[in-house]
Amino acid sequence: MSSNRILLVTGASRGIGASIARLAAKRGYDVAINYAGNEAAAKAVVEDIKKEGRRGIAVKGNMGNPRDIANLFQEVDRQLGRLTDLVNNAGIMGFPSRVDALDPQTLKEVIDVNVTGAMLVVGEAIKRISTKHGGRGGTIVNMSSMAAVLGMAGDYVWYAASKGAMNSFTVGLAREVIGEGIRVNAVSPGLINTDIHASAGQPDRAERLKSVIPIGRFGEPGEVAQTVLYLMSDEASYVVGANVSISGGR
Ligand code: NDP
Repeated sequence: MSSNRILLVTGASRGIGASIARLAAKRGYDVAINYAGNEAAAKAVVEDIKKEGRRGIAVKGNMGNPRDIANLFQEVDRQLGRLTDLVNNAGIMGFPSRVDALDPQTLKEVIDVNVTGAMLVVGEAIKRISTKHGGRGGTIVNMSSMAAVLGMAGDYVWYAASKGAMNSFTVGLAREVIGEGIRVNAVSPGLINTDIHASAGQPDRAERLKSVIPIGRFGEPGEVAQTVLYLMSDEASYVVGANVSISGGR
């Protein structure tokens, strides 16, 4: 099913992206991962991809920087060949604050990566995947968040809004490119056990909010990866423009 498929996962040296990259290799994809700076973590993911007998590469780059995005795609073209699938995963939160105390630099960085960069990444992917551009067709999965509908008052309203943009983007994009052989969907994880919470200064976040998650625990990156791989598979052939929540009922 996934033979000869070439997947790019942005932000995939750790967390949800790394889990998707590892599972994709098990399912037969060659995988390019992107990362921001943690070379050791990126190398470990590439090693695991190769252990599955697949080709794997890691390309450093800030997905909030258009030059780095262009370079990432050139490296994938050069080292792996023509892309067939994208998981548009890179995303950052910034430190929590109310909106009236929001640091303009934090806002800029979050929007640059989560909105502007994410859309530019998709544009580059379409140029490779779309049959209109001579590609073979394939899939795109955008990484949204339950934050988009929960709003995150007092914490990360701007982050929630950036993921709201991803939700609208997914609906329109899915309709724009389905006629060119690209199935676009999104996933909206709830609280997932990754470094993102500690990176934003809240290492105890998942533990603290456990009681508001109906299933009674936070999710694991592998639980998100399973859904993403399903959306990429032929089993999801009629799933277009969907946004699947993976949130333990929250
Ligand atoms: P992590 O913080 O655990 O992982 C971050 C990954 O992204 C690392 O590989 C890191 O690279 C890379 N990265 C960070 N900044 C950039 C950047 N500017 N450009 C490229 N790569 C970057 O994140 P998660 O796995 O938790 O989150 C992944 C996605 O899932 C994000 O879009 C997030 O918003 C979303 N999400 C997460 C939830 C959660 O509870 N964890 C819930 C809902 C959505 P390096 O290792 O080099 O630093």
